[in-house]
Amino acid sequence: MIRKSAVEMAAALAKGETTSLALTQAHLDQIAAVDGAVHAFLHVDTEGALAQAGAIDKARAAGEKLSPLAGIPLALKDVLTQKGVPTTCGSKILEGWRPPYDSTVVTNLKRAGIVILGKTNMDEFAMGSSTENSAYGPTHNPWDLTRIPGGSGGGSSAALAAFEAPLAIGTDTGGSIRQPAAVTGTVGVKPTYGGVSRYGLVAFSSSLDQAGPCARTVLDTALLHEAIAGHDVRDATSINAPVPQVVAAAKSGDVKGLKIGVIKELNGDGYQAGVRTRFDESLQLLAAAGAEIIEVSCPNFEYALAAYYLIAPSECSSNLARFDAMRYGIRVGDEAGASAESVMNLTREVGFGREVKRRIILGTYALSSGYYDAYYGSAQKVRTLITHDFIRAFEKCDVLVSPTCPTTAFKIGEKASDPLAMYLNDIATIPVNMAGIGGMSLPCGLAPEDGLPVGFQIMAPAMQDQRMYSVGAALEAALLSKWGAPLLSQIPALAGSK
Ligand code: GLN
Repeated sequence: MIRKSAVEMAAALAKGETTSLALTQAHLDQIAAVDGAVHAFLHVDTEGALAQAGAIDKARAAGEKLSPLAGIPLALKDVLTQKGVPTTCGSKILEGWRPPYDSTVVTNLKRAGIVILGKTNMDEFAMGSSTENSAYGPTHNPWDLTRIPGGSGGGSSAALAAFEAPLAIGTDTGGSIRQPAAVTGTVGVKPTYGGVSRYGLVAFSSSLDQAGPCARTVLDTALLHEAIAGHDVRDATSINAPVPQVVAAAKSGDVKGLKIGVIKELNGDGYQAGVRTRFDESLQLLAAAGAEIIEVSCPNFEYALAAYYLIAPSECSSNLARFDAMRYGIRVGDEAGASAESVMNLTREVGFGREVKRRIILGTYALSSGYYDAYYGSAQKVRTLITHDFIRAFEKCDVLVSPTCPTTAFKIGEKASDPLAMYLNDIATIPVNMAGIGGMSLPCGLAPEDGLPVGFQIMAPAMQDQRMYSVGAALEAALLSKWGAPLLSQIPALAGSK
């Protein structure tokens, strides 16, 4: 059962072939069997998950009307608060903190009856592309345990690929949902900015952060998307408009007459040969399904990475000021007579890892008087130019596409000492965040040279998220009939895996 899709699990629950308790226990057993090797989870909430599952079974037995994903287990990225459950953001500084409130995403999950299994590993405060920046050790890619599962949400995607959960939540500031999805052969969607509430999402870069759904199929992802999305008065940037009809789009998967734009600047030299092969094959499949493929140019994307690495650190340097040893987490050097300043300094010195410190320093510098206009100001202008590139491109086509990442999963340790090489991994995902639009990654095959998953990225205009799901479902169906089985059926078995 754990290898099935969430939709299939839901059907089995509805028919009484299994219970949420049994389903939840099966996933807890899989976690116990394989997570020693994968390390997708930072905290498993066995008691809470079983209690939630039992309550759903009771409600079902009582004939209550349940939502489509009721009783299905989910893995939650450890950057979203869940009342009473440890939330670390992959950082030592928050060790031991149990938030006193639920994030809106968690409130919505609970309302939908989705069972939260636990919190997943991530790069500290979502800064990274490999999950190696977690203070609690890296997560391993279930396709090859010596490789990274992507980041920052590597734990969520690895949990899906290792069949530890059929559903997961990620957050995406520059690619942290889509890049892990790409390198683990799973599906991940960054909704339009403002489409899913940020209330209770621990802030990294507030103008870019967005929570979103992750799963193993496009339809499962769509169902989770509708479960968590919607206006929230607690988030000032939440969009007050109806949620895009992503489930209907995923069900129809119709691309006839749709114009798909291939972004010239995100598909050239610098992309691994096997990544380009699988991407080009996918374009042919979409053309065969009735879509029209054109090429478009987004000349300012060249500057997106540089601008992102000014804007995101600037915002993080301000957002992370709240970790001051007074309100949350650990406190270091709190001896009689110690000044508040020295406690704050010592706590931040011990509590933050290298990458977080690097970003705080970069951001503080970029925002300092005298440099503000040259760095932060210029980056904001580039952001506007990128948005205009998208607007012009969407005048010519309905969706835009590119490979999600330039390469397949790299080895753990390979880029850990070279921040710039690590940052370059996000070259194709960052423009979407800069413009606040939606982006999806779905698996489009294995690269011939290394046998590792390749991601196909689909981008749609703001609040037109359903278009990504139409195209994603069409491509998924075409690939499935070509392969005869889902990509993840080819994943090497992990010890203990059923
Ligand atoms: N890898 C990017 C970074 O390090 C994006 C991270 C994210 O989306 N949270 O900032």
